[in-house]
Amino acid sequence: MSAPDSGAFTLSIVAPAFNEMETLREFHRRLAAVLDAIPAVCEVVYVNDGSSDATIAIMNALRAEDSRVAIVDLSRNFGKEIAMTAGLDHARGDAIIVIDTDLQDPPELIPQLIEEWRNGYDVVYAKRTVREGESALKKTTAALFYRIIQRVSRVRIPEDTGDFRLLSRRAVDALVQLREQHRFMKGLFSWIGFPQKAVLYRRDPRFAGAGKFNYWRLWNFALEGITSFTITPLKVATYVGVVVALFSFLAAALIVYKTLAFGDPVPGYPSLMVVILFLGGLQLLFIGVMGEYLGRLFNESKRRPLYFLNAYEPAKTPGADQSAAKR
Ligand code: UDP
Ligand code: MG
Repeated sequence: MSAPDSGAFTLSIVAPAFNEMETLREFHRRLAAVLDAIPAVCEVVYVNDGSSDATIAIMNALRAEDSRVAIVDLSRNFGKEIAMTAGLDHARGDAIIVIDTDLQDPPELIPQLIEEWRNGYDVVYAKRTVREGESALKKTTAALFYRIIQRVSRVRIPEDTGDFRLLSRRAVDALVQLREQHRFMKGLFSWIGFPQKAVLYRRDPRFAGAGKFNYWRLWNFALEGITSFTITPLKVATYVGVVVALFSFLAAALIVYKTLAFGDPVPGYPSLMVVILFLGGLQLLFIGVMGEYLGRLFNESKRRPLYFLNAYEPAKTPGADQSAAKR
């Protein structure tokens, strides 16, 4: 059992924020209201992901007002996946919840997540029923992405699920051992295994400000997901090569037969161009696919640390440091 059967436990909230000065106060107000009602020692680990606005000032103000607030201040913007990891590295709770600070993930769902953790689940993820304030194009591309990644990789990544979830201590301990540079967190959450459970909720539109994920980023995100969880695209080249080779044998046989039977009429310039362009395109495509993997290999092989900190300010909550702190 990962969850204590009864009694007090420590709860960590990990909330990455990048230029969220408009939403942070409202987020904390709603989160604090939820935490007040939970019989646990709580800490809220805010991760400032190199914001260029007043986000860090607001975090400091919140920490002065609320003893549960801890701050992990990254040395620059590292992206949400790494910001989350930095938060998880510093979270000390028996149960850890990862949540967005833009209020798209309702903090009011937290008691339900804890409920399922108490039932013995290590990873309790919030699954959205409706996506509000998101375009039809984003919805269809997201659906397509999940369908593809489900097909090509062995890891089951739940659909309509963001990063909003609860992790048990042992799940976080497992997760923080994965130090790869290319962190597709949704995949890593599933990869670690352990009993997992979904809780349904309505996803709200952003409270204020703009989402930082445009389509280019989304495309790169999809690429990251696929390349870090499967080498299927590399294998595709082999099979396409086999099929093309087979066809070329057939075509060669046909040409030999036609030349012998009917002599050699005007050589086929158009068909020649088609074949050259087709094969040239195919080769470039697969060199590109190999490049995607090679580039990632290059990044991983440098074995750089994932992030650097400006500062880490732990929560002042009494009791928070007596918990399962190891890191
Ligand atoms: N975020 C971050 N670093 C980044 C981009 C985003 O920490 O480089 C945080 C952001 O502050 C928010 C969460 O990640 O709390 C989700 O970001 P966003 O709303 O832009 O993404 P979306 O909801 O569109 O997936
Ligand atoms: Mg958002």
